[in-house]
Parts: sequence; C-alpha cells; structure tokens
Amino acid sequence: QESGRVVAFDGTGRTLDGHRVQLLANVASPDSVAAALEANAEGVGLFRTEFCFLDHEEAPDVEEQVAAYRRVFAAFPGQKVIIRTLDAGADKPLAFVTAEDEANPALGIRGYRTAWRSPKLLDSQLQAIAIAAAAEAADVGVMAPMIATVDESIEFASRCADHGLRTVGVMIETPAAAITALDILQVVDFASLGTNDLAQYTMAADRLAGELALLNDPWQPAVLRMIREACRAGVATGKPVGVCGEAAADPLLAAILVGLGVTSLSMSPRALGGVAELLRSVTVEQCRDAAATVVAASSATMARTTAAALLVRA
Ligand code: PEP
Ligand code: MG
Repeated sequence: QESGRVVAFDGTGRTLDGHRVQLLANVASPDSVAAALEANAEGVGLFRTEFCFLDHEEAPDVEEQVAAYRRVFAAFPGQKVIIRTLDAGADKPLAFVTAEDEANPALGIRGYRTAWRSPKLLDSQLQAIAIAAAAEAADVGVMAPMIATVDESIEFASRCADHGLRTVGVMIETPAAAITALDILQVVDFASLGTNDLAQYTMAADRLAGELALLNDPWQPAVLRMIREACRAGVATGKPVGVCGEAAADPLLAAILVGLGVTSLSMSPRALGGVAELLRSVTVEQCRDAAATVVAASSATMARTTAAALLVRA
C-alpha cells in the first residue's frame, strides 16, 4: 500500500482469473475483532490466544477462556476461525507459564513445548475451545505453535481428538517443520506458515533485533525455499497450507506465496485491501511463473526486484 493508501477489500480473495485465495485476519484478542469485521475479512486465520491473558498472573480457568473464545467465534458465523493454542515464551512471555531462567528463550520452552511442563493448561485450553466452538456457528480449526516434529503433531492431534476437536493443524515456523511438512501433513488437517519465526530460525537472526532486519526478511531466498518445501507438501497431500506471518501482508510477496501454492493468507486487517488488489491484477499462472523465478534469486533484494518486474504493471 504505497503512500499509506488504504484500499477496501470486498470480502472475496481471488486472482484475475478467478483462482480463490482466502484472505483472513489475524486477531489478537476479542477486542480486535471489530477491525477484522470492518475490513471484510473472510474469517480469522490466526487467533493469537496468548494475547488474551498477557496481564494474568494466574492461568485463566476454563470459564474465562470460553467467554473470550466465544466472542471471537460469534463474530464469524459460518466462517473459518483458526484458533492457536498459547504461544507463550520468548517474545510473548506469560507469567503463569513461561520459565524465567532460560539462556535462549527463543530456542527454549515456548509454544507447544510449554505443554511438556504444563499439560493441564493445554487440556484446559482445548476443553474451552471445544465448548466455545460447540456454542457458536464458526467453522473452527485449532492449531499448535512452534511445532518441530511429526511426533508433536501426532500428540497434538490426539489431544484435540480427546476433546472432540475435529479440524486440527500445526504452524510451520521452524525449519524442521518445513523440511518434514510432507510427513506432518499426513497426521494433521492443515498447516499455517508462521513466516516471522520461520525467517528468524532459518536465518538464525533474532526477530526482535532491529540490526538484523536485513537477515530477518521473508524475501531471503533461504526463507522462500523453506516456504516452497512446505507448499509442495500441501499440494502433494491436497491439504490447505496458509500463511499467517507478516509475509502475507506484503502484496507482492502474497502473490509469490499464491504461486507457491498457499491456499489462504492471514494478516492484520488493514493489509487486506492492498493484498486483494494486487492478487486481482495477476493470474495464478503469472504467480506460479514468478514464484519459480523469484525462489531461485540469489538475494532478498533480487527476489523483491524480480517479483516487482514480473508482477507489477508499468
Ligand atoms: C509467525 O511466527 O509468523 C506467527 C504468525 O506467529 P507469531 O508472530 O505470533 O509468533
Ligand atoms: Mg510464530
């Protein structure tokens, strides 16, 4: 969105030739639902539940969780809402779960790994999600953050099944998950690429360190090739693979992601119009051709410039 121009989104994401790409909103807490509705999001691709409880000293009980989750589900009847289990730790510490004595928090007990220490907390969350989903008409999917192995994916899917949760996915935000995506997608229903962390872990560059921003860039060829790996797994298994990291909010990169095979893009609501507009101006074939070229680039700058040259009309 050049020069701060805000473009409206009409509520249906598609390319010039009609290839559908669901355009969804990232939601941080029930209070941020209004922005997603106002922007005509097709649903929620990432509900970051940890933001509901940032100020809590003690873990929320099931009842409090049900109330928070229902408010988000209620806003999207008949539409997709992907709720993520707590991604506590590293850049998002929660007082009631995060360990204080870690030397490398980003490589420590964060995301799904917190369930090793606090299995009851994950169970209470899955129970609350199941209750909230049963009470509302949204099409709810549950996903786990910071997955690194197939075993974790199997374990998560089985815990969700214990609570009657039927649409289960995982985030692909570690290189380990990207490389084994084909195996992971055998055991879950969908995956969502967290490109913020995928860039951080692929490039070994702290996402919070401004000085490392040049490395911490989803246009880096290494990151694009990780994404390609996960997308190939999605195409091969026929299971949805979305993107819910910041990369989805960059219109040009969104087109490349579509070319690589992603089926949905989830972003901050204000980015929806710009992404929708660029997608409407290109065919899926153009996206695929551009993606093949851009992924082979030798630098992030080359990747960006090449994408612009191939996809933006002069
Ligand atoms: C990501 O890592 O890209 C992501 C969407 O999750 P978060 O930014 O909440 O870690
Ligand atoms: Mg992440």
